[in-house]
Amino acid sequence: MLRIPKPILEGMVEHAKRESPLECCGILGGKNHTVEKAFELQNAEKSPIRYSMAPQDQMKVFEEMEKESIDMIAIYHSHPHTIPFPSETDVKLAFYPEMASIIISLKENENPAVKAFRIGKEAIYLEEIEVIA
Ligand SMILES: [Zn+2]
Repeated sequence: MLRIPKPILEGMVEHAKRESPLECCGILGGKNHTVEKAFELQNAEKSPIRYSMAPQDQMKVFEEMEKESIDMIAIYHSHPHTIPFPSETDVKLAFYPEMASIIISLKENENPAVKAFRIGKEAIYLEEIEVIA
């Protein structure tokens, strides 16, 4: 279970729309499964079908999170044209399998879908998202 404040969730969808047709990506920091802050990162791949985060960008976010005493609790990226389910590449490149991985799908433009997963070696688990005020 992940709790995400509505303004942060809306900000992630905005980020996805801004970067479309390329995938966007970012890191969510917080505590006890509750997101407190979103960090937008550059998609180093500049690709519509995959993403990666530059190590130096990640370091900056980790430093900021440490300053604010929050932990990394999820990563997110967008699927501009496909469903909100981990792609083969997402599974292959799941750098943080212990971390929730959120996918924002813009496949249905009018109705963006946001889903969270845990991508394990053997299976993909759906993680529930609770939107909080
Ligand atoms: Zn993906």
